[in-house]
Amino acid sequence: MPDNSQLHALYGGTFDPIHYGHLKPVEALAARVGLQNVTLLPNNVPPHRPQPEASPAQRIEMVRLAIAGNPLFSLDLREMRRDTPSFTVDTLDELRQERGPDQPLAFIIGQDSLLSLHKWHRWQDLLSLCHLLVLRRPGYSQTMDTPEQQHWLEQHLTDRPEELHQKPAGHILLADTPLVSISATEIRERLHQGRSDADLLPSSVSEFIMREGLYRNPNPHAILRR
Ligand code: ATP
Repeated sequence: MPDNSQLHALYGGTFDPIHYGHLKPVEALAARVGLQNVTLLPNNVPPHRPQPEASPAQRIEMVRLAIAGNPLFSLDLREMRRDTPSFTVDTLDELRQERGPDQPLAFIIGQDSLLSLHKWHRWQDLLSLCHLLVLRRPGYSQTMDTPEQQHWLEQHLTDRPEELHQKPAGHILLADTPLVSISATEIRERLHQGRSDADLLPSSVSEFIMREGLYRNPNPHAILRR
């Protein structure tokens, strides 16, 4: 049974593949904020959007391998089971109903996602459902694109982790997490070029990618564009 009094953090992503840029900053965040558990939520990518290269089953298996034996992480497949788009706000609505109004909930995003948050479905509702914990990411601005967005950010900012445990939702923490210069795009490109993914993701995931022959052929999108 989940403990409804503790701050529970969720981390959504395509994880095509999962890598150290996902895992390392979150481990640091957990230590800093006092998170006991982070639930990874792999996305269902809707049919009209560019599809991940790995299948849903492969993306799930890579997440499983990456977190095996690490008690910080768990896996929630609810978005994968839907055949509709993964809107974070719908998932959070559902979790809020399951967990009740008082459970502190947080959604973890990278700085790039914060900068484009205003394009998310019902983004204004997110902070009534959860806190946002933002990971630093190399190459992305620390300030929002418009004065209105910056004002919105500053209205909700906190630098006190206690507040995240005391209130169910509503704060944004810009976490001082290590900068990790890795993206799934870069890993896929390296593998397409026959280069190594060493040190970019856990070796169990790397071995799975080899066994499955994933990301090996030239990128199909690149061929189409030629
Ligand atoms: P892609 O390169 O395919 O777009 P990605 O590496 O950005 O993928 P996603 O699965 O799309 O990975 O990202 C899930 C979440 O993880 C997003 O909120 C993103 O901002 C965050 N994230 C991914 N990589 C990093 C990183 N190196 N540092 C901090 N946050 C990251």
